[in-house]
Amino acid sequence: SEVFLPHGAEVQHLDDPGDSGVGKSCIVLRFVRGQFDPTSKVTVGASFLSQTIALQDSTTVKFEIWDTAGQERYAALAPLYYRGAGVAVIVYDITSPESFTKAQYWVKELQKHGSPGIVMALVGNKADLQEKREVPVQDGIDYAEKNGMFFIETSAKTADNINQLFEVFLR
Ligand code: GDP
Ligand code: MG
Repeated sequence: SEVFLPHGAEVQHLDDPGDSGVGKSCIVLRFVRGQFDPTSKVTVGASFLSQTIALQDSTTVKFEIWDTAGQERYAALAPLYYRGAGVAVIVYDITSPESFTKAQYWVKELQKHGSPGIVMALVGNKADLQEKREVPVQDGIDYAEKNGMFFIETSAKTADNINQLFEVFLR
């Protein structure tokens, strides 16, 4: 996938992964290409992908997806991607309580600065790693409910609930 950076943005080396690694890029690649690449590269800035879904009544819906980098150093760029977005997917890793805390930061950020009426989903990814789970599913459900968001646990690795995640927005 191509990397798009806003004009004037610098490409920097990523020596502190921060809250990256929750599986955002893998979720998008699973949805768009039906693939899982365990060696996929860290997203720099953001990349753009699209996927068109045919509905039963033969109309189509085109998802235009910005896959952002979650790193703190790119936080200033994030509004460039979520401004004007109708939908936001905030992902954490069910094996990482830190990533769940960071997801809550992004929820608040989008509540403050996202488009009015933005539809948000909270996603607990890496659901295939049940034996390493550190974020109880109920914590995700409760937080999402309190904040009026959809909630789903996914695995980009096994493809579990990936299509269901995007179908939520069609509904
Ligand atoms: P991002 O920084 O949020 O975009 O995370 P990536 O999509 O780059 O994934 C980070 C790492 O987690 C990679 O090593 C992936 O192979 C791995 N990963 C992503 N999704 C899953 C998943 O559902 N299950 C497991 N076991 N690993 C995953
Ligand atoms: Mg990424």
